[in-house]
Amino acid sequence: VLFNKYQELKGNIRVMCRVRPVLGSSEGEEAKLLFPDVKTSAQIDVTGPEERNSLGNSTRKVIPFEFDRVFTPSVHNEEIFGEISQLVQSALDGYNVCIFCYGQTGSGKTYTMSSPDGMIPRATHMIYDTITKLKEKSWTYTMEGSFVEVYNEELNDLLTSTAEGKKKLEIRHDDVRKQTTVVNCKTVALDSADKVELMLRQAQNNRSVAATKANERSSRSHSVFILKLVGENSATNERCEGTLNLVDLAGSERLKHSGAEGDRMKETQNINKSLACLGDVIEALGRGSGHVPYRNSKLTHLLQYSLGGNSKTLMFVMVSPLEAHLKETITSLRFATKVH
Ligand code: ADP
Ligand code: MG
Repeated sequence: VLFNKYQELKGNIRVMCRVRPVLGSSEGEEAKLLFPDVKTSAQIDVTGPEERNSLGNSTRKVIPFEFDRVFTPSVHNEEIFGEISQLVQSALDGYNVCIFCYGQTGSGKTYTMSSPDGMIPRATHMIYDTITKLKEKSWTYTMEGSFVEVYNEELNDLLTSTAEGKKKLEIRHDDVRKQTTVVNCKTVALDSADKVELMLRQAQNNRSVAATKANERSSRSHSVFILKLVGENSATNERCEGTLNLVDLAGSERLKHSGAEGDRMKETQNINKSLACLGDVIEALGRGSGHVPYRNSKLTHLLQYSLGGNSKTLMFVMVSPLEAHLKETITSLRFATKVH
């Protein structure tokens, strides 16, 4: 509903904010809450850090941020999915769609995107249901999934284990049809719901095999779930091809350069760079700028034909409600404001 309502007014880019809840005992009673003060379903007020005013007294400014929507900590994944279901439908209708989760490590990106209750399984379930209904109208759909990771400006296949022998992935664009293929990437025919669960588990396993510190690595890489949807109508000979990209971005926290050397230093620079590049691309698209710098990072290069043009983009900026995370929260919200 939201998308149709604002389509003409605002183009194809939306930004929404989700504040995660305080996590039970682990964050304990001493966890100081700093907000949210959600004024409307589109505005969030953050109480900023302590400052001295002109009289020398300590004060805290309230910083308002506005987005297309703000979700309070009590909102469940089901309601979040309600906002994106129309985008899933768009992918079935032949559009290219990108949904991103942006935020610092621990802010709820993976919970929102790929937990058993998250957007990936919900989206595929909705697609199965819709495809079944569309059969009565002579539509036959195929759904194909792949799962890749961008780590250190390199593309890795998360569906092939090292034991199976990973091949070097390459991005190939068809500039006429405005389609992207990842050469050497494993694709899985997703003809039943359990295939999706299997795929998510496989990706998780391959990731932990590949890295000694799997969690650390996943917070430093972008994972991209790519769903290709091809529909053919036997009665009308219509055909449509759409792509749904669900992206769990690397943690946005400012990584310190100090002490990091060699590979670690390069990694840090690459993460900061690629998130900045994504911001630049979305900002350029929002401005309607002629030049969009897709080529500046692997992630934007990969998603080139799913960002801009008539494709649809949604960015979730995820934030923690804790005082301890205030600085990163403000940085994340500023980033999201820039692309909004
Ligand atoms: P990220 O992927 O951004 O690093 P996670 O998704 O792993 O963060 O979330 C960090 C922790 O917070 C996890 O234990 C996750 O289950 C929990 N969590 C995040 N968001 C929510 C939420 N909306 N409701 C309940 N638990 C959440
Ligand atoms: Mg994560």
